[in-house]
Amino acid sequence: MTVSRAQQGTKGSVLIAGATGFMGRFVAESSLESGKPTYLLLRPGSLCPSKAKIVKSLQDKGAIVLQGLINDRELMQKMLKEHEIEAVISAVGGGNLLDQLPLVEAIRAVGSVKRFLPSEFGHDVDRADPVEPGLTMYNEKRIVRRSIKESGVPYTYICCNSIASWPYYDNTHPSEVSPPLDRFQIYGDGSIKAYFVAGPDIGKFTMKAVDDPRTENKIVHFRPSVNCLSINELASVWEKKIGRTLPRVTVTEDDLLAAAAENCIPQSIVASLTHDIFIKGCQVDFSIDGPNEVEVTELYPKESFVTVDECFEVFAVKAEDEGRTAVAAAVGGSDGLAAPKSNDAVV
Ligand code: NDP
Repeated sequence: MTVSRAQQGTKGSVLIAGATGFMGRFVAESSLESGKPTYLLLRPGSLCPSKAKIVKSLQDKGAIVLQGLINDRELMQKMLKEHEIEAVISAVGGGNLLDQLPLVEAIRAVGSVKRFLPSEFGHDVDRADPVEPGLTMYNEKRIVRRSIKESGVPYTYICCNSIASWPYYDNTHPSEVSPPLDRFQIYGDGSIKAYFVAGPDIGKFTMKAVDDPRTENKIVHFRPSVNCLSINELASVWEKKIGRTLPRVTVTEDDLLAAAAENCIPQSIVASLTHDIFIKGCQVDFSIDGPNEVEVTELYPKESFVTVDECFEVFAVKAEDEGRTAVAAAVGGSDGLAAPKSNDAVV
């Protein structure tokens, strides 16, 4: 449902930085869906056509666009006051994490923001310990956490684990491409499990947590048991969808470590996190029992999650519509689908 600005008033106003990005868009869509007055902070300058289209579609649903940078502390202070912002959600990418430090300062100075959700959207960075260069990115997320803690700004950390899709080890936004149609690359023995969450569910549960008193100053882990799968199981789900089996090629721990050691950004960050997830088991090797952490399915037990099966159905229909599954089968499995590389960092 689209709610106009006049109908909304200012109560519960949310400012989202990074709405033109991969993760931020899911959050912006859900914020608008929730009926909260939603402000989008866009970097000044002209937008490329695809981002302009995203912004237009969000504006059509009621989003209000503001221009500025989160690292412009004075401007941020002014905006937060003027628009009576109650929650700030940042989804800036891996290259801009430290831009959040002046934003934290601005939120502290204004004193009226009830919750800040920094750009997390992955693992619990104080717990996970990936090899470099993933570690550098985690260190930056840790620095942001420390500055939030010191500032006393109320926060929530969204640890949503993996986006529901085939986890290509060199693609930062794997849900933008289909699972493979030629062969599976299986990490290690393929038995380590991980949690896969559909993008719209990341947005939906982020917006539930944003003003929930139970999530104040807490880490919110996303662990939908229905979507806890190993890569071998993920491959089987996809094989059922496309109606045939594909060869499985092993990508060893050493292969992933070598790809990480290349230090080619952002792909090597993805390789290091892939190693952490599918070799070391960083999403499943701990229980959630600390005083400052909660689990999302326990918070909202009546809410369902989109399943990996449903996500893969969408990919399969799309591949079928594009005639790619038939082509791949006819040429003996190779459809030439390479995971495109994108320019920012992941969990
Ligand atoms: P993107 O690179 O796709 O988008 C970043 C967004 O932040 C863009 O809208 C960009 O604007 C905006 N931005 C950057 N710097 C500033 C600034 N100083 N002021 C205002 N806006 C700014 O990021 P991702 O979606 O890839 O990453 C967001 C978060 O999600 C990260 O923490 C990342 O680690 C995590 N992530 C998690 C994944 C998972 O599977 N769990 C997968 C991918 C990401 P512009 O349009 O101008 O560039």
